Amino acid sequence: HLKLAAGMGRLGTESAFTVLAHAGKLAAQGKDIINLGIGQPDFRTPEHIVEAGAKALKDGHHGYTPANGLPVLREAVAADLNRRHGVEVNPDNVVVVPGGKPTMFFAVLMFGEPGAEIMYPNPGFPIYESVIKFTGATPVPIRLTEDKGFAFDAESVLAQITDKTRLIIINSPANPTGGVTPKEEIDKLVKGLETHPHVAILSDEIYSEMLYDGREHVSLLQYPSIRDRLIVLDGWSKTYAMTGWRMGYAVWPDQLVDHVTRLCINDHSCVNASAQFAGLAALTGPKDAVLDMVKQFDARRKVIVDGLNALPGVRCADAAGAFYAFPNIEGTGLTSMQAQNKFLEEAGVAAIAGTSFGALGEGYIRFSYANSTENIERALERIGKLLA
Ligand code: PLP
Repeated sequence: HLKLAAGMGRLGTESAFTVLAHAGKLAAQGKDIINLGIGQPDFRTPEHIVEAGAKALKDGHHGYTPANGLPVLREAVAADLNRRHGVEVNPDNVVVVPGGKPTMFFAVLMFGEPGAEIMYPNPGFPIYESVIKFTGATPVPIRLTEDKGFAFDAESVLAQITDKTRLIIINSPANPTGGVTPKEEIDKLVKGLETHPHVAILSDEIYSEMLYDGREHVSLLQYPSIRDRLIVLDGWSKTYAMTGWRMGYAVWPDQLVDHVTRLCINDHSCVNASAQFAGLAALTGPKDAVLDMVKQFDARRKVIVDGLNALPGVRCADAAGAFYAFPNIEGTGLTSMQAQNKFLEEAGVAAIAGTSFGALGEGYIRFSYANSTENIERALERIGKLLA
C-alpha cells in the first residue's frame, strides 16, 4: 500500500542487465552461455591502472574528495581532451562522476519537467528515454535508420525543434547500432542550432576512441559557437575496460557547472578517491593497451559482421564504431524479443532485442563483440544452426 511518486512508474531500465542476470542463472544451471549481451570490454583493466588504484588505497586516500573531482584529475582530463580533439578545456568545467550514466541523468534532470521536450536517439541507449520520461518531459525521438548507417540526419533533427525543446541528446559512435555520424551532418546540425539559442546539447562521446576503417572522431567540443550550452559526456568505462570502477566525466558549460556540482553533492558527494587515482594513471600513462584493445575489437567486428551477413534472413550493416553489431533480422520471421529469447534459451547466446533501445529498434538485435573471436565464432555457428 505504499504510494510511490508517479515518476517511478515511468522509469525504464537497461535490459542488458536483466539479460545478464538471466544468462548468469542459465550458466549457474550448467548451461554453456556465450554472452554477447552486455556492452563491456572482456579485457582486464590495464595493470598500471589497477596498481595506481591499489596504491592510492595503501597511501591512505580514504576520505572525501572535492565534489567535482580531484583537481589533478580534472587537469588530466582537460589535457587528454586537448591531445585527442585539439580543444582547449578549462579544468573547472570538468566534472568527474561515478560512470557515464550520472552525467546523462543529471543533464536530463536539469532540463526535464512536464511541458518540456527533450530529443534523444531512437534506437539509442535506453537510459535517455527512461530518464526523460521519469522527469515528466516529453521524449521526442531522433529517428536513426539503417539506410543512413544509423547516423542522425541534421535536417530532420532541426525540423523537430520547437519552443519547448530544452535539450537534444546525440551519441556518436552509437550504442546499440555502432553508427558514426559523419562530420558534414554534425557541421549542419551545429550551424542550425546557432539559430536556436534556447536549446542545450548533450553529446554522449563515451565511444570516442572506438572508430574503425580510418574514421576519426568528431567531438562537439570542436564547435566554439555552441560551447556555452554544450555538455560532452565521456569516461573511462569503455576506453580503459573500467566498467566496474564507476568513473566518468563531462565537460559542462560555465552556466551549468555549479548546478551539476550541486547535484553531485546531493547525490553521491564525490567519486571514491582510489578510482580517481586509477583514472589519472589511465590518462597520463601509456596508451598501448587501449590501442591494442581497439585493434582486437576491429578484428572481431569483421568476424561478426561477415558472419551475421552469412546467416539466413539476417542483414548486418557495417559497424563503424563502438563495439556493437545491430543486424536486421526481419528475414528470419522473428520479432526482436522472440530472437532474444530463442537465441538465449535454444542457442545459449545472449544478445539484446532491438526494442530494448526504443520502439524503432523492432526488427533488430544487438550483439556486443566485446568477446573473444573464438566465442563470437561459436555463437555465430549456434545461431546459424538454429536459423537453418
Ligand atoms: N553512454 C552510452 C552510449 C553507453 O553505451 C554507456 C554504457 O553502456 C554509457 C553511456 C554509460 O557508461 P557507464 O557504464 O560508464 O555508466
